[in-house]
Amino acid sequence: MQTHKQLTELIRDVPDYPTKGITFKDITPLLSDGEAYACVIARLADRYRDYDVDCILGMEARGFCFAAPLAVQLKTGFIPARKPGKLPREVISEHYTLEYDTSCLEIHKHDLPAGSRVLIVDDVLATGGTARAVTQLVKAQGADVVELAFLAELSYLKGKDLLDGFSIYSMLAF
Ligand code: AMP
Repeated sequence: MQTHKQLTELIRDVPDYPTKGITFKDITPLLSDGEAYACVIARLADRYRDYDVDCILGMEARGFCFAAPLAVQLKTGFIPARKPGKLPREVISEHYTLEYDTSCLEIHKHDLPAGSRVLIVDDVLATGGTARAVTQLVKAQGADVVELAFLAELSYLKGKDLLDGFSIYSMLAF
C-alpha cells in the first residue's frame, strides 16, 4: 500500500492550465502507476464496503477512472454523468460553474430508482460546482446521496462550502 504522501507525489501541478492563473492537478502519473492506481481503488473499496451503496455515480471524464473500478469492486451499479448530447435516451440535465469554466452534466432519466443509495465519485473537488450539480441530479430522481468521494480536494477553493449538508470524503488534500 502506498502512503498518502506517495500518492500525493503522483499528482503533478500544471501551472496556467487550462487558463492563466489555474493550477491544474494532473492525475495521469498516478493512473499510469499500476500499484498506486490499484491502491487508491482498494482504499476506496475498504471505506465503502459496509456503506450499503446501491450505485456509484461518476462524472465524465476523470471521475470515471475511479467510479467504474470502484463499482466493480463493490459490485454496485455504475451511473455515468455525461456531457450534453452523449447519452442516447431521455436525460435530466444540470448546468453549473466549475473552477475554470461552465458546463453541464446529464444522467439518463429513471436510471436511479427513487430511494436508492448513491455514492458520487470524482477525481478533484475544486470549487464544488460540479459536485453540487450532480447532487441535484440525484435528488431530482428521488435518490439519496450517501457520500461524495474525491481522490483529492483543493481545500483553498472551499468547495465544501457549496456542499453543505452532504458527507464528503477526500483521500488527499492540497
Ligand atoms: P469544481 O466544480 O470547481 O469543483 O471542479 C471540479 C471538476 O473540475 C472535477 O471534475 C475536476 O476534474 C475538474 N477540475 C477543476 N479544477 C481542477 C484543477 N485545478 N485540477 C484538476 N481538475 C480540476
